[in-house]
Amino acid sequence: MPCSAAPPRLGRVSTRLSQLFVRTLREDPVDAEVASHRLLVRAGYIRRQAPGIFAWLPLGLKVKRKIEAIVREEMEAAGAQEVHFPGLLPREAYEASGRWSEYGDSLFRLQDRNGADYLLAPTHEEVFTLLVKDLYSSYKDLPLSIYQIQDKYRDEARSRGGLLRGREFTMKDAYSFDYTDAGLDLSYQKQRDAYERIFTRLGLEYAIVKADAGAMGGSRSEEFLHPMAAGEDTFVRSAGGYTANVEAFETVVPETLPFDELPQATVFDSPDTPTIQTLVDLANAEQPRPDREWTAADTLKNVVLALRHLDGERELVVIGLPGDRDVDLKRVEVAFAPAEVEAAGEADFARNPDLVKGYIGPWSPLGPILGEESASGIRYLLDPRIVDGTQWITGANIDEKHVLGLVAGRDFTGDGFVEASDVRAGDPAPDGSGPVELARGMEIGHVFQLGRKYADALGLKVLDENGKLVTVTMGSYGVGITRIMAVIAESTNDGKGLLWPANVSPFDVHVVAAGKEPVVWETAEALVASLEAGGRDVLFDDRLKVSPGVKFGDAELLGVPVIVIVGRGAVDGNVELWDRRTNERTPYAVADLIGVLTA
Ligand code: ATP
Ligand code: MG
Repeated sequence: MPCSAAPPRLGRVSTRLSQLFVRTLREDPVDAEVASHRLLVRAGYIRRQAPGIFAWLPLGLKVKRKIEAIVREEMEAAGAQEVHFPGLLPREAYEASGRWSEYGDSLFRLQDRNGADYLLAPTHEEVFTLLVKDLYSSYKDLPLSIYQIQDKYRDEARSRGGLLRGREFTMKDAYSFDYTDAGLDLSYQKQRDAYERIFTRLGLEYAIVKADAGAMGGSRSEEFLHPMAAGEDTFVRSAGGYTANVEAFETVVPETLPFDELPQATVFDSPDTPTIQTLVDLANAEQPRPDREWTAADTLKNVVLALRHLDGERELVVIGLPGDRDVDLKRVEVAFAPAEVEAAGEADFARNPDLVKGYIGPWSPLGPILGEESASGIRYLLDPRIVDGTQWITGANIDEKHVLGLVAGRDFTGDGFVEASDVRAGDPAPDGSGPVELARGMEIGHVFQLGRKYADALGLKVLDENGKLVTVTMGSYGVGITRIMAVIAESTNDGKGLLWPANVSPFDVHVVAAGKEPVVWETAEALVASLEAGGRDVLFDDRLKVSPGVKFGDAELLGVPVIVIVGRGAVDGNVELWDRRTNERTPYAVADLIGVLTA
């Protein structure tokens, strides 16, 4: 049978800036608030389609693929196998896990022509679980780790930082399947180790912090945070090495104190005390302490919150905390998840006349108001510092009256404790490693022991050694590929432009022909050919009618760390090596430079 020969493949064509699909911009995009966003758009790596949604140009894709390659290598080395799932998924599995509703407004939901519900996957636990359930039934098949590098969709409320927080973004998500807890620990550790290698290879500083389990539910969970000012996570660290997310910080619980000898609480008039400070001032004026002044830390503040539970029920809770602290909304959200938390409104107070606004306290001369043995039925949760024997100034639940010397464990007892107060610099780390400080960071990776939550919900079981059906235990492990690209851009740019680490730079060398003389062009062409023959990926600025100044400006903006300038010196066989990282320009004989750059 005659067969037509395929056309011969041309030799490798170097990337010429005159041909490359890119336009650099002088102006910053108006919606860009962070340097990485400004620079990636101006340098022609990405282009906005809608808020948090970007098109990828050749330069952007090259960098993204290099990051993906490093992640792939480390995933394979950790024994994970690559798969690929659709981004468009049917509702059912997410309904079974509860996340169809739990995800709230962040989920992109849509319908097909028959009215069936679909979603654009924000993450893929459910369908990975179901696929393994389809294919595997024995412990002999486990452990298994599989991963994909795939686009995710989340209708983020604040998608400002360009690739830092996209509504479409690329994630590496891996999932491990084991049938014993020890197996899960091992799988988790392998991914965690791989993450350390990935971020080290990418030159990214990171802190591993204990995370809250959030919407995922499970046991061990750690986030990799890159410390940066534009980061959206606040984390806590001590000089002694403790790190945790603010949401996961555990308050050091003080020793309980004996209270048998303490005097009875006294009620005092306290009109016009709308703030903690006015209350403290009044107490110092009218109820002075012999040994020292009263401070806000002596007061017990009672904050009324409304929880909206998944089934729609609205529940009031009161949180008691030292008056020098504030309720931290993020910590509260985590403490009560999946319920949503709101401030209580006038209607809530109207329905609960026991709570005298402005004077709320757990106790009143008329009897207990909140906590154990109280009649209100409202849950009263205490900050862990409010241990038995501590004494407080707090509301007496009577208009314009407070009470002084109210003793925890004697006069009132909460219905439990809650981590709701803000964390402050100087608070002691729970592991005894000293006072903490607060720092800003961006989550670049997350390792997570899901445990049996998804396997339970979706019925993933295998037969163990004894022929008994056991529920599989899982881990999920995410790395934000596109976010990492922005984080690198954010941390390495030098204000004039991007400045990529060599291993993710779109090109190894950027050659600029700066001059009109034929010798400049001949030298540049020959240099590019030699570098490519030596295995280097070269971007050649061969634009004829563009001035050297503009070319240098573009070279800085594009961010290839190694630039070679071919100018007039070419007459004598000389060129200049411009190292963007040090900003030094060093003259070289062409032959020597080829040796250096292809070594
Ligand atoms: P964040 O708290 O920053 O919203 P997350 O905890 O919701 O992140 P995960 O569900 O743990 O994120 O996703 C795994 C990884 O995916 C994150 O560690 C992060 O690197 C990346 N990622 C999450 N959301 C986005 C987003 N909107 N844009 C880009 N990357 C993201
Ligand atoms: Mg996370």
